[in-house]
Amino acid sequence: MNQRTIQTAIAVTGIGLHSGEPVDLAFYPQPTDTGIIFERSDIIGTAPVPADAFLVQDTLMSSNLVLDDVRIGTVEHLLSAVAGLGIDNLLVRVSAAEIPIMDGSAAPFVNILLDAGICEQEQPKKFLRILRPVRVHLGDKWAELRPYDGFELNFEIDFDHPAFDKDQQHAQFHFSTHNFIEELSAARTFGFLKDIELMRQNNLARGGSMDNAIVIDDMQVLNVDGLRFMDEFVRHKILDALGDLYLIGYPILGRFNAYKSGHALNNLLVREILSDENNFEIVTFDDNVSSPIDYLRSTDAIV
Ligand SMILES: [Zn+2]
Repeated sequence: MNQRTIQTAIAVTGIGLHSGEPVDLAFYPQPTDTGIIFERSDIIGTAPVPADAFLVQDTLMSSNLVLDDVRIGTVEHLLSAVAGLGIDNLLVRVSAAEIPIMDGSAAPFVNILLDAGICEQEQPKKFLRILRPVRVHLGDKWAELRPYDGFELNFEIDFDHPAFDKDQQHAQFHFSTHNFIEELSAARTFGFLKDIELMRQNNLARGGSMDNAIVIDDMQVLNVDGLRFMDEFVRHKILDALGDLYLIGYPILGRFNAYKSGHALNNLLVREILSDENNFEIVTFDDNVSSPIDYLRSTDAIV
């Protein structure tokens, strides 16, 4: 199983969630062992910002990378798409301090990257295999990674609110590209109307609307078309976690379990794993049969 990049450069335009302004986004193929790197097209002469968990500086509403005052905000949905498609090497060039919000899910990024085409490269794909359980806590919230032959994510949220069905607050996701595209990538971010109004007063979320989030008032979901999945909220939390975990630098072989986790705790977990070499090893696979993760080999198979 080899590393992957995209076949050709491709560009798309969206809206910044916080600025409300148009943002240009472009993707470029990269050589093996480059990893995922970001550049700002509106700032000349700055070093690329790698997708590195230790560069995450604030996690209030999203995961944001900062290197030498160069900020790349809201990377998690894009990184979720990149992880979901098994892309190892990619340059992302963005014209503002935040990745555009698109429809609030990872599906638009999946579509544009599939339009560019996925190509396999000449070097083996590297995985990070979890060797022993590591768990982090923040109050009653926790997140952990445990050894597992594959990649699985279990997530539980706990909202005591009429819009959140009690039976739809836990989900288990077995990772493969196919499952990611079908079951996870379209799950949208969500927010409460009163929080959004508060953010607007503080000049945040100016681009936020029901076009790019599920909006909930005191009683119910306000979007006319309702939810895309019965358990869309918890699916989105798994989508977020997948993007946040990709900042570890490799696809993970392990089982992720989380209770009410978010960007801060996901990042803490990644840092904790990387802080001790006994927690993990980097492995490669000589052939597709022995790989415990199923990435689709050809974009032809992805429709
Ligand atoms: Zn999100």
